[in-house]
Amino acid sequence: MDKSLDRRKFLKLSAAGAAGSILAGSGTLHASPSPLTKTTASNGIIHRTLGRTGMKVPVVNLGVMRVDNPRIVTMALDGGMTFLDTAHGYQNGRNEEMLGELLKDRPRDSFYLATKVSARGADMSTEEFISTFEISLERLKLDYVDILYLHGPSSREAVLQEEHLGALIKLREQGRTRFIGVTTHSNEPEVIRAAVESGEYDVVCPAYNFNMGNLPDLKDAIAEAAGAGLGVIVMKTMAGAYWDRERQDPINTRAALKWALQNENIHTSIPGVTAFHELEDNFEVMKDISMTPGEIGDLRLDRADTGMYCLGCEKCTAQCPQKMPVPDIMRSYMYAYGYRDLSLARATMDTLGLNGPACESCNSCAVKCTQGFDVAGKIRDIDRIRQVPSEFIS
Ligand code: SF4
Ligand code: SF4
Repeated sequence: MDKSLDRRKFLKLSAAGAAGSILAGSGTLHASPSPLTKTTASNGIIHRTLGRTGMKVPVVNLGVMRVDNPRIVTMALDGGMTFLDTAHGYQNGRNEEMLGELLKDRPRDSFYLATKVSARGADMSTEEFISTFEISLERLKLDYVDILYLHGPSSREAVLQEEHLGALIKLREQGRTRFIGVTTHSNEPEVIRAAVESGEYDVVCPAYNFNMGNLPDLKDAIAEAAGAGLGVIVMKTMAGAYWDRERQDPINTRAALKWALQNENIHTSIPGVTAFHELEDNFEVMKDISMTPGEIGDLRLDRADTGMYCLGCEKCTAQCPQKMPVPDIMRSYMYAYGYRDLSLARATMDTLGLNGPACESCNSCAVKCTQGFDVAGKIRDIDRIRQVPSEFIS
């Protein structure tokens, strides 16, 4: 085990698990803004302070995940965004390489940058985690990043997994990342509370949007994190961008982003963009998050179903005898049909370690999705993408 870690602390954390987190259910923290949240305006841009990191950032920044035109990043930075979000795995590393080329001539104190190393594969050792991150640093042509995330765990155990958390702490001690965080697409309240419980994570980055089914609990968990001094950055604010697979019924993404930012325990957001007009929309929200009655109506808050958006509630995973990673596959489906990003959909499927055609051995599906999704049908549909050679998917 890494010397920098106190094993007794991990054991203590593990023992506390059955009783819930130290803050869960305390009833003392609600969704009112943390006193640590400071909202200010400068040059007309609304800024909030990212918890104890002290980083003062615009409320809207750039998720670089799907950007393949570097001029979008340039426009974002020139327009007042200061925080760029990427990951080791985005675009098979090309995303970080693009940023490295673009940022090498910019003063290091003119931007903040976060990257992520995937938690997939609990067997990844501390050394492997660190060497994966070192590749990211080389691609980025940076000596350090501002935030390094553990990417995508969905349980308390995974957040506190000592090899991964140990690697993060070691890299923070070495100054190769200033702060450490955790991102999550599913089971968000548990993941956020585990990050608080650890006493180590500085930032949490959950999915958060108007369409989620666990909002009361998620808002409470976010309030607990902000109250404990963690920075809170949200993603997936656009809830899939379309209500329907055929993309005939778009979600009002500007309204969706504003809706997320009404919660002052959220310090900033990282919506992904692929086009200049989307970035221009986000510039406007960065300066004005007030919602019109029309925008509120567009979100159809009384609608019973969530369109294409999988809640990541994981109610389905235990039902499947093949233990299919259904929420991840549903996310891939949303990337393909909502975002029209086949490359991202394929990359997501490729990380899941599926052998052979998915669901092939089932005559009928045992999974009952809380949203009424035809899970088997969607899986078979999106699974076809694994048969397409990568070079045909741009
Ligand atoms: S058809 Fe349903 S039960 Fe069978 S493997 Fe697929 S998701 Fe699981
Ligand atoms: S597929 Fe349905 S049950 Fe499974 S995580 Fe998504 S919303 Fe929940």
